Amino acid sequence: MIKTKGYAAMAAKAALGPFSFDRRERRENDVVIDIKYCGICHSAIHQVRDERGGSIFPMVPGHEIAGVVASIGGKVTKFKAGDKVGVGCFVDSCRKCPECRSGIEQYCGEGLVLTYNGREHDGTPTFGGYSESIVVDENYVLRMPDDLPLAACAPLLCAGITLYSPLMHWQAGPGKKVAIIGLGGLGHMGVKLAHALGAETTVLSQSLKKQSDGKRLGADHFHATSDPQTFARLQRYFDLIINTVSAEMDWNQYLGLLKVDGSMVVVGAPEKQIPIGAFPLIMGRRSLAGSAIGGIQETQEMLDFCGKRNVVSDIEITPIQKVNEAYERVLKSDVRYRFVIDMASLKAS
Ligand SMILES: [Zn+2]
Ligand SMILES: [Zn+2]
Repeated sequence: MIKTKGYAAMAAKAALGPFSFDRRERRENDVVIDIKYCGICHSAIHQVRDERGGSIFPMVPGHEIAGVVASIGGKVTKFKAGDKVGVGCFVDSCRKCPECRSGIEQYCGEGLVLTYNGREHDGTPTFGGYSESIVVDENYVLRMPDDLPLAACAPLLCAGITLYSPLMHWQAGPGKKVAIIGLGGLGHMGVKLAHALGAETTVLSQSLKKQSDGKRLGADHFHATSDPQTFARLQRYFDLIINTVSAEMDWNQYLGLLKVDGSMVVVGAPEKQIPIGAFPLIMGRRSLAGSAIGGIQETQEMLDFCGKRNVVSDIEITPIQKVNEAYERVLKSDVRYRFVIDMASLKAS
């Protein structure tokens, strides 16, 4: 076993603190990664607080992992020591089901192994990226862009792919009008990526507070959803709306902003059930859909695209000792736009 230092929550709602644990011994297909940075994703806060049930403790969160290959197993062919690599939301899947075979492992129905708060196929709990190292099968390791700062690339592994995958699936590009609801960790990646893909990009935000930021990130238009005029003005305007917001809102109003055949895609996760009227869907042949992260191949495509087009996340770097404070600030949306933990700070713990 490989002795590893990290930060864990020992029970639901407990603050995170220093924690030592064992990583598995490297197998022949494994890559051992020295973790340099790990993004703080909103979903970790829900899991640490066990808000959706079934959380496994102790829990070492973190699934936006960026680091450098320390060593490789004898059968590893894709990576070598010193390579800049990343690990996203899952570290294994069943590899046999139709979804795994067609490269959409994130929808594996048989045995998706989440990077943390999950279990390996042998039942061992998984521990995530708030730690000094991780051991992962090379088929679930990503190559990070060489010429971009590694810290700012970490959030691409969850926030980035969460937006890239629906943008690609619903063919955002030149001539398409795309709206992103909410300008937070997910939304800001949506704006950057939709803009880089060549779509006309609009932010729909509660107020105009972040307007200048939105434009700087690549938005062509920015509208306040607190202004009823916004909904009157933009009727039947968009080909695609991506909803990154988990707060309550009137979804039927937003469906009205779609053109005929337009789609609204949910990537945020509201806690309450959402009342949807049939007419906004029927009268316009509109679709309401959902989307979760992306498969390994698509995540690699996204990273390569970001490398070519210079797309990174806007980040604030924090030492691991301030992770609990960072969580509080994430809950208050007081970060522009993603916290990334500098894992070198672990040595001081
Ligand atoms: Zn995430
Ligand atoms: Zn599968």
